[in-house]
Amino acid sequence: MNKEVAEEIGRIVGKGRCSTDIADLYVYGFDASIHHKTPDVVVRPSTVEQISEIVKLANRTLTPVIPRGAGTAMCGHSVPVRGGIILDLTGMNKIKQMRVEDLYCVVEPGVIYDALNAELEKHGFWFPTTPGSAEACTIGGMIATNASGMRAIKYGATRDYVLGLEVVLPTGEVIHTGTRTLKNASGYQLDRLMVGAEGTLGIITEAILRLAVKPKASAMTVAAFNSLVEAGKCVSNIIAKPLLPSAIELMDSVTIKAVNKCMNAGLPDCEAICMIEVDGHPASVEEEMCTVEDICRKSGSISTQASSDKKKISEWTQARKAIMPSLSRYGEKFVSVALADDMSVPISRIPEAVEAFHKIAEENGVIVGTYGHSADGNLHTKMLVEPYSDESWKAGERAVGQIYDKVLELGGTVTGEHGVSITKAPYMQKERHDSLGTMRAIKKALDPNDIMNPGKMFDWQGSIISHLRYPAFLDQPCERNDSCEGS
Ligand SMILES: Cc1cc2nc3c(=O)[nH]c(=O)nc-3n(C[C@H](O)[C@H](O)[C@H](O)COP(=O)(O)OP(=O)(O)OC[C@H]3O[C@@H](n4cnc5c(N)ncnc54)[C@H](O)[C@@H]3O)c2cc1C
Repeated sequence: MNKEVAEEIGRIVGKGRCSTDIADLYVYGFDASIHHKTPDVVVRPSTVEQISEIVKLANRTLTPVIPRGAGTAMCGHSVPVRGGIILDLTGMNKIKQMRVEDLYCVVEPGVIYDALNAELEKHGFWFPTTPGSAEACTIGGMIATNASGMRAIKYGATRDYVLGLEVVLPTGEVIHTGTRTLKNASGYQLDRLMVGAEGTLGIITEAILRLAVKPKASAMTVAAFNSLVEAGKCVSNIIAKPLLPSAIELMDSVTIKAVNKCMNAGLPDCEAICMIEVDGHPASVEEEMCTVEDICRKSGSISTQASSDKKKISEWTQARKAIMPSLSRYGEKFVSVALADDMSVPISRIPEAVEAFHKIAEENGVIVGTYGHSADGNLHTKMLVEPYSDESWKAGERAVGQIYDKVLELGGTVTGEHGVSITKAPYMQKERHDSLGTMRAIKKALDPNDIMNPGKMFDWQGSIISHLRYPAFLDQPCERNDSCEGS
C-alpha cells in the first residue's frame, strides 16, 4: 500500500486514529488463531461516514480492508493475509437505544457482549447466546461469525437475534437491512447474508437486536462417567426424553486433568463429565434437574452433584471456560492450538465422533482434548503441538483432515460456531463443494474488486499450517506462504 493512501486515511479519521507504527502493525497482525501477518495501516474510525470514505478510497486503490472487533476469533479471521487496512471498530461501542417494550435494542458494532448483557439485565432481559469469549468479543464480530455458545440448544445463535443491520458495502454505499419489527418478510433477508460473512461482504456499523427474557432460576449438575462414549450417549438420552436443558458441556479426561491441574478446580477425576444446566421458573428447574440426574444415572453416571447455588454454578462454569488456557500448560513443550476445533455433529452421533477423535489422535501421535457444547452436537477439540517442531505440525494437520472427514461422514459440519477464515477453509470447501460457486458469485457481485477481507474461506488455497505466529516458521515465510498469497 502506498504512503499516500495511509495519509489520506489519516485525513478522513483525524489525528490519533490512524497508525503505521511498527508496534501497532505487529500487534494487529494477530487474533486468537495460529496465524499472523502485519497490516499496512490500522484505523480506528468513529462514524459510519468515515468508514464509507475509507472503503471508497480502498476500492479506488484496490487496498484490502479487514474489519476487526476484539480479535478473539480463532481461525485467522482478522489476520490480514494480503496486508491492507485493519478497521478497528472497538471504539464504536455505544448502546444507542434500549426499547424493551418493543423487544429490541440498537447497538454499535464495538459493544462488548458482557457489557450489553449488564445493561439488559437491569431490565430483566438478556442476549443469551453466551460465547466463551463473552468478556471480550464484540457484537460486530459475533454477527460476522454467527457466534453462539453453551446455551445455543435452547436459545439459538447470534443470527436468531439479528432483526436489522446498517452495513457499509465494499463500494462504500451504506445500506439498511431488516427492520425494528419482530417479523419482516419484505424481500431478500439481507441481514442473514451478512451474518457469518466474516467481514468479506461489508462492514456492520449498527445492529438491531431482538431481546430475550432472562430466566428467573437455574441449576447445574456435574455428572461423572467412566467412559467418554457413555457421557456422549447421556447427552442424546436427555434430549430424547424430551427435555430442553439450557446447556450440556462435555469434557474428556484430558481437559478435566488440565483444568484440575491448572486451576485446582476439583472436578471429578474420571474419563468424562457432563455439566448440565437447566433454567426457567424455580419450580420447573427443580423438577427438570431431578429428571436430568435420573437420566444421568440410567446412562451410567458414577456420580452427580446438583446445585442451584449461583457461586457453585459460577465456579463450574469458570472451570469449563478455563479449558483453553489450562491446556496450554498441560506439558512444558506443548501449546494448545485451534486446528480442528469446532465441529458439530447430529446429537446422537456424539459418541461415535468422540471415540473417533481419540483414535485418530492416538494413531497420529498427537494429544487432543475433546470438550464442547454437546447439547447441540457442537464439539471442540484442542490439539497440543510442539510449536517449533515441523513434524508435530504435520502430525496435527494430518489428524485434522481425518477428524473432519469423520465429522462429514457422520453428517456434521466442520464449524458450528467459530467460522472458517483460514484454519477451516480447505475443509469447509470440501463440505460445501456444491455451493462454493454461489458463494463466489455473491462475493463478486457485492465486492467486484475483492477488497473485503480477501483470500479467506472459499478463496483460501494451500495448507492451513501457514502464516504461523510461531518464530520457527516465521523464519521461512516464503516456503510456507507462497501457495496462498495471491489466491
Ligand atoms: C477463549 C475463547 C472462547 C471462545 N468461545 C466461543 C464460543 O463459545 N462461541 C463462539 O461462537 N465463538 C467463540 N470464540 C471465538 C470468537 O470469540 C467469536 O467468533 C467472536 O464472535 C469474535 O468476536 P470479535 O469481536 O473478537 O471479532 P474479531 O475476531 O475481531 O473478528 C471476527 C470476524 O468478524 C469480522 N468482523 C468483526 N467486526 C465486524 C464488523 N463490524 N463488520 C463486519 N465484519 C466484522 C472480522 O473481519 C473477522 O472476520 C472464542 C474465542 C476465544 C478466544
